[in-house]
Amino acid sequence: MHAPRHDPISRHAEPAGEPPSGGAVTRRFDGLGFEPVLEREYRQHMRADQRRSTLVCLITALGIWLTFIGLDLTRLDNLIAIDSRDVFVELAIALRLGTLAVILRLVWVVRCNRQAPAYHHLTMLALALIGVTCAFIANMYKLRGLPQADIAQLVIIAAVFLPVGLTFLQSLGIALLIAVFTTVLGLLMLEPAQLAEHGRLSILLFFAVFVSAVGAWLRERAERDQFLLRRMLHSRAMSDALTGVANRRGFEEHVVMALLQARRERAPVVFAVLDVDHFKRYNDRYGHQAGDVALALIARAIDSKLRPPMDMVGRLGGEEFGLLLYDTTPEKAQERLGRVAQAIAELRIEHAASPTAQYITVSMGAAAFDGQETAIDLYRRADAALYAGKASGRNRVELGEGGERLAG
Ligand code: GH3
Ligand code: MG
Ligand code: MG
Repeated sequence: MHAPRHDPISRHAEPAGEPPSGGAVTRRFDGLGFEPVLEREYRQHMRADQRRSTLVCLITALGIWLTFIGLDLTRLDNLIAIDSRDVFVELAIALRLGTLAVILRLVWVVRCNRQAPAYHHLTMLALALIGVTCAFIANMYKLRGLPQADIAQLVIIAAVFLPVGLTFLQSLGIALLIAVFTTVLGLLMLEPAQLAEHGRLSILLFFAVFVSAVGAWLRERAERDQFLLRRMLHSRAMSDALTGVANRRGFEEHVVMALLQARRERAPVVFAVLDVDHFKRYNDRYGHQAGDVALALIARAIDSKLRPPMDMVGRLGGEEFGLLLYDTTPEKAQERLGRVAQAIAELRIEHAASPTAQYITVSMGAAAFDGQETAIDLYRRADAALYAGKASGRNRVELGEGGERLAG
């Protein structure tokens, strides 16, 4: 009795695509920002997550903006009486209406796209325009001795950090831009007598940026931790603890998605079921633990011959694996599944109790996706082919329904 000379099981039990847990993820010095692929995923998730709150904020902003326009209209007589061809008045009207157009466009984009596309550029533009327009118009009213509320800039700074699909740094950038712009615009537009009061407002604005930014930074750190945790839990729930490949649930989820995509792209797909030959005898002879090691090695060998991300192997249960070969014709599948069988044969896992060969062998049943059928029907056809393969001697790949044997 020879136990196979392979690494202990613990080495093979590591999931192949280990989810990025806290330790595996590199963060920037500020504690925000992952490596590029994960960062893209986080931002997409965050925008989708904040889509509803963005809409609420936008509708609120729209209401306030329309109220401002209404207030402007009540003062129009005053403004025009002062100077009917004032370039400031024309600029103010252009800014008010331009900002209104951007807000309306943003409402449209966020409302109509459930997938939450990258609307952050438009959001940043809208926020910057709101800040700049309010600063400009407040100064204009101030110069004319009309009632105004430049202190409202503080509210705008706070609003920039609301959950509207921006990252902390994007919000901080816009808030600083508004604070700096408000300060400079006041220096350029206001009378010398008004500058002391303006200076106090500017200091308050920078304080508001600082305080809001601290809150937003803490919030984003917590959101990123939540994102990682959720991602890790999802990944664990979808992978098989023994072999590290996808478990049945994860595999089925991928197959359903891949078949939908194949239907759209008219891509050929082959589905295969792989079963280890005489595995009960292997366990009986070498022990269950050695059987576990063998399963982990086999899973790794299969995985090494697939092309991620569309190909996938999943453990369907026991010593049975499912393989999805995307963009693969039955002819190509013959060659590719042959390579999988070869990789397993090359493991040279001794199986002295097997009547088929000296080493562990596998049988596979394969079926080509007909472009219409469900994943369950495809699985059934592949399973029937596997059954036929077992019946006709094992250690082979059998193509289902009307297809000839693919490899031996
Ligand atoms: P066949 O060639 O017809 O497939 O024969 P078989 O012995 O492989 O088939 P059978 O279905 O009779 O036995 C499958 C065996 O797989 C039974 C069980 O002991 C073993 N098995 C299932 N899951 C595990 C596992 O997680 N670890 C180990 N070590 N063995 C397992
Ligand atoms: Mg078996
Ligand atoms: Mg079996």
